[in-house]
Amino acid sequence: MNKIRDDILSYREMCDTESVQTLQRGMNFHLNNSYSVILMSQRPNAPYADRVHDDGITIEYEGHNVTKKSNLHNPKYEDQPDKLSSGKLTQNGLFINAVKKYKEFGENPEIVKVYEKILPGVWSLKGFFDLVDYKIVFDGGRNVFRFILRLSADQKTETNTIQSEILHSRLIPTEVKKEVWKRDEGKCTICDDTKNLHFDHELPFSKGGTSLTAKNVRLLCMKHNLQKADKIE
Ligand SMILES: [Zn+2]
Repeated sequence: MNKIRDDILSYREMCDTESVQTLQRGMNFHLNNSYSVILMSQRPNAPYADRVHDDGITIEYEGHNVTKKSNLHNPKYEDQPDKLSSGKLTQNGLFINAVKKYKEFGENPEIVKVYEKILPGVWSLKGFFDLVDYKIVFDGGRNVFRFILRLSADQKTETNTIQSEILHSRLIPTEVKKEVWKRDEGKCTICDDTKNLHFDHELPFSKGGTSLTAKNVRLLCMKHNLQKADKIE
């Protein structure tokens, strides 16, 4: 019952969580009946220009390129497509359609579950976001899509107490997560477990903690994270 989602996952664990073989496409519109899944990266060598706005709760996510057709073909020089020559919508097109339904017809926004790559092989669940808008941006050489996602009020967790903690832990800056992961060597700081890890605030937000530095964030396994949550109550 007190089950909370893992903060930190390997690529395989991420695919298993979503019950799929691969998430290689990065954009997965309506992966299941409840939500879409996107993989983002703000790493310097990332293929797309994804970023989190300064408010910490808005993500700007770049659309995806045409498929590479040959070794001589460079998709980075072509406008990102919303449909194929057959007329079939690309992932970009499917996301755009959802934005239009939300903005023009007042339908609920598409819920998008966002994972972020923080280090090679290390992924972090950023949470559930509402897909609220998109724009077309000239990036210097061609037109690309930028999708705007805002942190959902409902993070689909089972308990309210932990929900607020999780919501806040989503907002730990990626740089801090990277530093903490390296410092704690990818292990629970209490028992050295390497599975089901979470980023934990030494001082909960409700008691005035801040996530802005690595000093008050540590890695805990699910067991120790829950034990701590019990004590706070
Ligand atoms: Zn532990």
